[in-house]
Amino acid sequence: MADFPIPELEGRTPLQVAQTPAMDEVAQRGMIGLFCPIPEGMPPGSDIGNLSLFGFDPRTCFTGRAPLEAARQGIRLTSSQVAFRCNVVSLQEGKMYDFTAGHIPTEQASLLIKDIGEQLEKEYPVRFYPGVSYRHLAVIEADSTFSVEDLEQTNCTPPHDITGQAWEDYLPEGSAKSLIQSVMFSSQKLLPQHPVSKERVRQGKPEPNSFWLWGQGRTPRIQSYQEKFQLRGVVISAVDLVKGIGICAGLESIEVPGATGWIDTNYQGKIQTALSALSRVDFALVHVEAPDESAHQGDLKLKIKAIEDFDEKIVRPALEFAKQSADNIRLFVAPDHITALSTRTHAQGPVPFAMLGPGIESSGIAEYHEASAQKTGIFYPEAHELIHHFLTGAPFYIGR
Ligand SMILES: [Zn+2]
Repeated sequence: MADFPIPELEGRTPLQVAQTPAMDEVAQRGMIGLFCPIPEGMPPGSDIGNLSLFGFDPRTCFTGRAPLEAARQGIRLTSSQVAFRCNVVSLQEGKMYDFTAGHIPTEQASLLIKDIGEQLEKEYPVRFYPGVSYRHLAVIEADSTFSVEDLEQTNCTPPHDITGQAWEDYLPEGSAKSLIQSVMFSSQKLLPQHPVSKERVRQGKPEPNSFWLWGQGRTPRIQSYQEKFQLRGVVISAVDLVKGIGICAGLESIEVPGATGWIDTNYQGKIQTALSALSRVDFALVHVEAPDESAHQGDLKLKIKAIEDFDEKIVRPALEFAKQSADNIRLFVAPDHITALSTRTHAQGPVPFAMLGPGIESSGIAEYHEASAQKTGIFYPEAHELIHHFLTGAPFYIGR
């Protein structure tokens, strides 16, 4: 939701312009302030931002995107295994033509991962796991040639960062580069022969002609919510990464039919699932992706609508639920990072949070947005401490 002031909005942000009566009420009855979900010097990814939000310090626990996705798929990594994200990509004329291979359908991609993966598994210490569309996983086993550290520390480039650029300039570099590059080169020999690839070309779609490995890491060092907070909880999201962090934190991930990660998501299903889960667990986290996606599309109107939908369809029912059980419910609202319309990508910087419930004093500010949050002077430089304070009722950090 968070953004920078926009000239088209006379220097206001989408959150300032959007009608958000429910979040405004949370701010007014409770407390509003700023926090930085992305620690200084770390990339502003959803992985980092959500780890902070969940209460984990990304500087000490982040091991890569792939192991979080592996957790989501129920893959348990042993201490000698490193998980890589394996994209099915399309290379053309020496360039990274499409990091999604034309958003290749899951059924087609799964066949490629299964058949080509099987052949690569005979040759290399690797196992492939099919995922959704172009997003899959490759788990590499460390051995006497390449240690876990070698695999972890090899520098791999996310394919979405090099669209239109010469891919050979961005091959894995570092101690295990020969192994990882060999897996990729071998996939490039095999993929174009596969009937699925030939079929895609016949359909005029980008040819799926390479696996691209990146985002690797070993199992993240995350404590469960039971150990850390003595809380049981659930996570509700359409995004694998968020589900994966929740699962690593010992939360139950509940699938909601029609949760799409987009503006057409099943808002009602998500919030009702969360609220009914609260009859059996202590904590429910609901994640909505639409404001982020619409900012990636550079669509100002859509971002405002996504914010208003979130306010009306998620925050409002949660707020009414909290009011009905005033003595024992706390409510917390926040984005996991800035997604700027101006650049259509994520950015580092402070974002507003609001919370209400027993033990949380009112800051008396009647609006929820970046500027009103700044006015309170309440600022958490250590983002991961924020949820800790929210959940445990420890004294709140105030001041800059
Ligand atoms: Zn995003």
